[in-house]
Amino acid sequence: MKKILAILSLIVLCSCQENTEQLNLTQGLYISNVTLISTEDGNYDPFIGHLVVEKDKIVYIDKNEPSIKGTFEEIDGTGKFLIPGLIDSHVHLSGVIGMLPHHEEKYPEIAKEFKIQMPRSYLYYGFTTLVDLGGISDELIALFKSQKLSPDLYHVGHSGAAVANGYPMNFAPEEYRFHTQPNFVYLESQAENIPDEYKPADHTPKAVVNRIKNSGAIAVKSYYETGFGGFSNLPVPTKSIMTELLDESHANGLVLSVHANSLEGHAFLADIGVDIIAHGLWNWQKHKEVPTDSLPLEIKEILDMQIEKQIGYTPTLTVIAGEEALLDKEFLSQPHLKKVVPKNLLEWYSTEEGQWFAKDLFGESNIEETHRIYGNVQSHAMLVLKYLSDNNGLILFGTDTPSGPIYGNQPGYNGYWELKLMKEAGVSLKKILSSATINNAKALQLDASLGSLAIGKKANIILMTKNPLLDIEAYDAIEKVVLEGEVLKREELEVKE
Ligand SMILES: [Zn+2]
Repeated sequence: MKKILAILSLIVLCSCQENTEQLNLTQGLYISNVTLISTEDGNYDPFIGHLVVEKDKIVYIDKNEPSIKGTFEEIDGTGKFLIPGLIDSHVHLSGVIGMLPHHEEKYPEIAKEFKIQMPRSYLYYGFTTLVDLGGISDELIALFKSQKLSPDLYHVGHSGAAVANGYPMNFAPEEYRFHTQPNFVYLESQAENIPDEYKPADHTPKAVVNRIKNSGAIAVKSYYETGFGGFSNLPVPTKSIMTELLDESHANGLVLSVHANSLEGHAFLADIGVDIIAHGLWNWQKHKEVPTDSLPLEIKEILDMQIEKQIGYTPTLTVIAGEEALLDKEFLSQPHLKKVVPKNLLEWYSTEEGQWFAKDLFGESNIEETHRIYGNVQSHAMLVLKYLSDNNGLILFGTDTPSGPIYGNQPGYNGYWELKLMKEAGVSLKKILSSATINNAKALQLDASLGSLAIGKKANIILMTKNPLLDIEAYDAIEKVVLEGEVLKREELEVKE
């Protein structure tokens, strides 16, 4: 018996020793006894264990205690939960939300406060990685990155690959639109409406994608939009242009993400098999008045094709909710916003001047009827999302913050709102977490360093006091944000009074 015990203890000792390689830390972080929640494939198997970071990388994850020495900070994670930093794959960082350039000029202090707070507001809600899907200037990228605390930023170059005079170029006055959209694609049918200085050879899909690649982008953004809000019959890409954009993107190691929210747009893009559709399918066009609890067969068939091809689907439910919020007098007084929007800007939104877009959009329209229309569109958007979620669609978390000059879409808070709306639509908490972590990382080819808690990956980590697989409120129960190994208390990230 003694002999057996001796052998047993030897086996136990040996197996322990295998796991206790000593870690010598110089700038370490040790989070102990915490519930680790992470996935590589959508299946979750949370366990209580230990995680060690050295500098900006995860170097240890295990159920067993690590053997560590050297210099490190320790956090007792007992009763708490760790997830990878969240990724929002659809934001726009340029400009002050809700302001036009002339407002920014008139109120430079308010604009400055917003720009300083904005990256922190994303971090406050756990978003450690952002993908800007509009055009972004080198100056703005540099400014964003120069701030001490800012999420990882990825982008699609100096402008999207819009077709000439199509969406979103149509919004800019003609004298600026070509200059501000340097990566527009030449359309023969628009030749008469393109200034002579722009040569077709510089605006082929190949030339455009090459330029986007050279600007340090990770993806190409394009658009399929025939118009809304007073604009209609806008030019859209032909099948051959979109196919070429897709092929050229892949040849350059980039992902193609395309704006579309209509049945026509989603059908067109599903057929081509683009990588990502940057919005949900909520404009049901001829089916727009069908009951909000039934999915027309035509739409089901489009979604089935997207599921079969595993095209990334970005719900962006807050596009609808954030716009509708401009009708809601209470929206600006909710306590959540005070944490992420500087006080002076929040006050400005309520002024006559700050209400400019709300007035433009809704004017004298009947509030009840407008809510009915938005409610209908959102119900359709949610029904589509539920169908994709129930049938193994590839859901990618993205908010489109902001989708226009809309103060209803605020940095960070909008992400939290989007997560809650996905839950309301019937997406499981597991799928919601995957959509904002591993799914986005894989779809954007960032999974070698982001998207899960794994050895060698970047130490972008969220510590929560509630379990995000059981409670959506966990995304507002963030205690600490670890950004590239640096531990930030959530309070440090909120607006300073
Ligand atoms: Zn957008």
